[in-house]
Amino acid sequence: DTVLDVRDLVKHYAVTKGAVFRRRAGTVRAVDGISFDIVAGETLGLVGESGCGKSTTLMEILDLAMPSGGSVAVLGKDVATLTAKERKAIRRDLQVVFQDPMAALDPRMPVGDIIAEPMRVHGHSAGAIERRVPELLGLVGLRPEHADRYPAEFSGGQRQRIGIARALALEPKLVVLDEPVSALDVSIQAGVINLLDELKAKLGLSYLFVAHDLSVVRHIADRVAVMYLGKVVEIGDVRTVFEAP
Ligand code: ADP
Ligand code: ADP
Repeated sequence: DTVLDVRDLVKHYAVTKGAVFRRRAGTVRAVDGISFDIVAGETLGLVGESGCGKSTTLMEILDLAMPSGGSVAVLGKDVATLTAKERKAIRRDLQVVFQDPMAALDPRMPVGDIIAEPMRVHGHSAGAIERRVPELLGLVGLRPEHADRYPAEFSGGQRQRIGIARALALEPKLVVLDEPVSALDVSIQAGVINLLDELKAKLGLSYLFVAHDLSVVRHIADRVAVMYLGKVVEIGDVRTVFEAP
């Protein structure tokens, strides 16, 4: 079962001539014909240094619109040909955990409301939400009474756990982890990565784990795709990629 299939994906940006700096007009080949897939239950690490094209790749996937080149299929459906109903289902089944937990957490909302927001948007009843929020808090190692507190009352690691709980609210199948520990102290990164790994096994998730640092995905990825200048220059089993000279 393939949950994500990216084929020959291309995204070029047109750049205009610099008014002050002598930048020539032309195109930036941000993503230059990359292919990779994720099978159900798998974690694929997408890694590479800043500027290699990771964010552009994510945008093309999360847009759920026809890419400027190549194709993207999510949960077996080519995103270029989705019906409105299929698009809504994919918006539920594909969730994102962001690098900066605060970017996804409205500081004026109690944590329980933040976690419940995707459920409200998708029309779940107040009763279902009240039952589900304590369960979600428990899944990420927080307590039911945390639902009444505000994001500012939590540490960086706890805030990222809140972001993870929110991403899991609708029982997604594929979760995009966009640098999920890069904004956290090194001392707490392993705890969050281990939690993500446990949740994947327990809930039968699949992950696309994006990181600029290969070592971050070492303990969690099954396979790794390494990007460089818009291309996937290496893809394979995590051990093989690590042992490469
Ligand atoms: P990463 O996420 O790996 O840091 P990006 O996808 O952000 O890489 O960027 C890939 C390349 O595309 C870089 O050279 C970047 O400067 C360029 N780029 C990204 N966004 C734009 C844009 N909106 N216009 C022009 N160039 C862009
Ligand atoms: P190796 O890296 O040789 O395969 P281990 O997998 O046992 O060895 O882990 C090496 C180090 O990484 C140990 O200090 C371990 O505590 C730490 N570690 C274990 N799990 C994780 C994780 N999920 N994220 C980051 N570091 C971890």
